Amino acid sequence: MSTLATQAELTLNDWKERAANATFKTQAFIDGEYRQALSGQTFDCINPATGQCLTRVASCQSEDVDAAVASARQAFESGEWSRRAPTERKKILLKFAQLVREHREELALLETLDMGKPISDSLNVDIPLSADCIAWFGETVDKSYDEIAPTGSDALALITREPMGVVAAVIPWNFPLLMAAWKIGPALATGNSLILKPAEQSPLTALRIAELAMEAGLPKGVLNVVPGFGETAGQALGMHMDVDCVAFTGSAEVGKLFLQYSGKSNMKRVSLECGGKSPHIVLADCHDIDQAAQAAASGIYYNQGEVCNAGSRLLVQESIKDELVERVMHWGKKLMPGDPLDPSTQMGAMVDKTQMERVLGYIDIGKSEGAHLRMGGNRVLGESGGYFIEPTLFDQVNNDMKIAQEEIFGPVLSTLTFKDLEEAIRLGNQTCFGLAAAVWTRDITVAHKTARALRAGTVWVNCFDHGSIAVPFGGYKQSGIGRDKSLHALEKYTELKTTWVNLGS
Ligand code: NAP
Ligand code: MG
Repeated sequence: MSTLATQAELTLNDWKERAANATFKTQAFIDGEYRQALSGQTFDCINPATGQCLTRVASCQSEDVDAAVASARQAFESGEWSRRAPTERKKILLKFAQLVREHREELALLETLDMGKPISDSLNVDIPLSADCIAWFGETVDKSYDEIAPTGSDALALITREPMGVVAAVIPWNFPLLMAAWKIGPALATGNSLILKPAEQSPLTALRIAELAMEAGLPKGVLNVVPGFGETAGQALGMHMDVDCVAFTGSAEVGKLFLQYSGKSNMKRVSLECGGKSPHIVLADCHDIDQAAQAAASGIYYNQGEVCNAGSRLLVQESIKDELVERVMHWGKKLMPGDPLDPSTQMGAMVDKTQMERVLGYIDIGKSEGAHLRMGGNRVLGESGGYFIEPTLFDQVNNDMKIAQEEIFGPVLSTLTFKDLEEAIRLGNQTCFGLAAAVWTRDITVAHKTARALRAGTVWVNCFDHGSIAVPFGGYKQSGIGRDKSLHALEKYTELKTTWVNLGS
């Protein structure tokens, strides 16, 4: 554990003082150095808790992407990283993870200032999990074996995994460093060179860790960071003829664009981690309704509801609906938004004005669709200049409504009822997404049958949002293609090679 954890807890005033004195890396990181965008263009980096501009960040265009790809390719071909001894690659990744841990407070502050999440979450969840992820994949480097196929005695067929080459990672703003780490860990562990495009709302931690990677000993060109907009830097990566693989996390809409970019360019490999509309199913025989209610509340309100696997549809059996909804509201009201720099805050600001307006727009749609607004529904703390929305709950939602089908990506829960298990499963699966689902029941047979019937990459039984770096994460249907985390993540950053050796005469 970091020695920082043993220090006295920082107070709101400590964090405010640090925020006032914070410095930012604002240039692109290409070929081992910070550079302005070639066009000289920059964009405003906004603190969503105040609406104020923190700094201006380089806005990379296609020529900057070309430079990053050229550097990544050169680094890959040199073999300095891609062919380096596994134990040495491991050491560097472990050192990198250690440096992230040592800079935990600095990185947590950047994350909170940049995207509005509570400092306690940045400090205790996002940054440590990011470091752990890089270390976990670092540990795989000298423990991964290849295969020999059972071909018979007159041949030797080796099945080996090789790095793809130049990988582009295009990531969202809801867990900026953690989503970067989910790509950085396995992509670098397998010997690739990487170009990271953070979301325009949250580039600061990605830009800072690039130099920590250098400090750890990563050769230049192996990790590049190109901040900028999706339509420019993101598209340039997607369309690039010399990018071998895109690992994307973000909305299904943009995920589909990356499939098109691939088809229009060089058929680069594309893996997608997209959105969700996860059903959180509570059966009447649930062993502890209050526990389920608490999980349902944190399952939708954690991280301001800006979570891909958020349990945004609460499916509850009719007989316990009133009690469950009361209990969810009880827990939800404890999560009122506050200053993200206050260590006691559990819900922060929406990432930007556009996202706040989008979520408020969905709340209006819910009302006009005839759902019953039972809690919240408003912007709050407006005097701060920030973009805060209170925990919101709709009852009497019909699964055909937009608020039951579209990803709101905010603190808005839609409650639906069902009569029996069959209806719960039907409603649960009646969505274009398939990222996650949960079921609460005392009956182990029902639990397993439901888990099998739900078309989702993860199904939680009597819990919600449990996770581990050792467990794969990703979606069915339009929630994506491929998996992050676990040894399975290594598959998407490697090509499979067969080498036949004739041993016959
Ligand atoms: P987004 O709008 O799809 O953006 C994701 C990334 O794609 C950003 O870096 C964005 O850049 C870039 N982008 C946008 N338009 C593009 C285009 N036309 N061409 C190329 N790149 C483009 O998603 P978001 O709003 O940042 O994040 C929220 C979404 O992420 C939600 O749908 C959520 O469910 C999903 N998510 C999924 C997972 C998972 O593991 N399944 C995890 C976290 C989040 P700019 O922002 O700079 O324009
Ligand atoms: Mg920002």
